[in-house]
Amino acid sequence: PPPSTAPLDLTGRSISDSPSAVLLPPTPASLRRAADALRRGEPVAFPTETVYGLGANALDPEAVRRVFSAKGRPGDNPLIVHVTGLQMLRGLVRSVPPAARALAKRFWPGPLTLVLPRTRRVPDVVTAGLPTVAVRVPDHPVALALIAAAGVPVAAPSANRSGRPSPTRAAHVADDFPGLLVLDGGPAHHGLESTVVALGDPPRVLRLGAIPFEELRATLPGLVVATRARARAESPGMRHRHYAPARPLVLFRRSRVAALREALAADPSALLLCANADAPLFPGTRPVRLGGEPPQIAHGLFDALRTRRRGSVLLAYALPRRGLLRAVMDRLERAATRVV
Ligand code: AMP
Ligand code: MG
Repeated sequence: PPPSTAPLDLTGRSISDSPSAVLLPPTPASLRRAADALRRGEPVAFPTETVYGLGANALDPEAVRRVFSAKGRPGDNPLIVHVTGLQMLRGLVRSVPPAARALAKRFWPGPLTLVLPRTRRVPDVVTAGLPTVAVRVPDHPVALALIAAAGVPVAAPSANRSGRPSPTRAAHVADDFPGLLVLDGGPAHHGLESTVVALGDPPRVLRLGAIPFEELRATLPGLVVATRARARAESPGMRHRHYAPARPLVLFRRSRVAALREALAADPSALLLCANADAPLFPGTRPVRLGGEPPQIAHGLFDALRTRRRGSVLLAYALPRRGLLRAVMDRLERAATRVV
């Protein structure tokens, strides 16, 4: 079952008299307030170009533990540490191999996460005890200003209850965490999480994401996409159920148009999720349209999974596995209760 969205007290104070989240426009004053909260060990939600993050001071194990418990995140699923630039990694990672440096030079700030050997300064709770730490520089002025103002690296998973779709708007964060301080930066630009790359021989994509594999390979020709088994072994987050909407989601392969039409005919209360271009395949339905071009589809996915439109079940029509849509398909498959 999806996790409940009962109010949470993330601040240590009672929130019974303030049941709604505190959405703050990213003014200098609210950035200072959020940075102070981070330094005091309190979690803060902030916008990035991928999705909203739930941040904590990465050097404060107690603060990081609060993020895990607020999300209900399994302790074996490590967090990504957000920094303002390569120089902020000093003391956190033991080395930056040349391939990582080349990728960072080309894609940072941006939705690329690099898995690097860590030092002892990074608390075990951040990396779930792994000898490596995942790091990235977000391409968002509010995220960068917040990290700079706090003066500490910020460990941040997506700001959703564990297992739920990632939040692409401040209101999604408020739905999952009433009472939480949220810097509202408007809708996230990509709406899809970062691509996670482990250096090694060969370098591997552990999680597909907002930077398409083909683009990364143009900088690093030896790069491969890790097999599912390998990704699960090396990236604990890939083992867990993710992105689940509040009702069942059945994903239909592209070859199963007829089966999907039948399912829609059999259950008039079913909601169809599909790319704009595929909508004409299902006449007589009012689909939740994901978008037209791949960036819009990627952007529309998590919003669609949180749709408030009525319907007993979500039926999704698969997307062609190319470029950015390959990452969208990864999310749909992990969100699905069943694949037909
Ligand atoms: P999320 O915070 O939901 O965006 O998930 C972070 C992703 O990064 C998960 O898939 C983690 O498994 C992955 N990750 C974080 N740290 C590491 C690490 N040290 N090694 C491999 N994967 C990692
Ligand atoms: Mg997440």
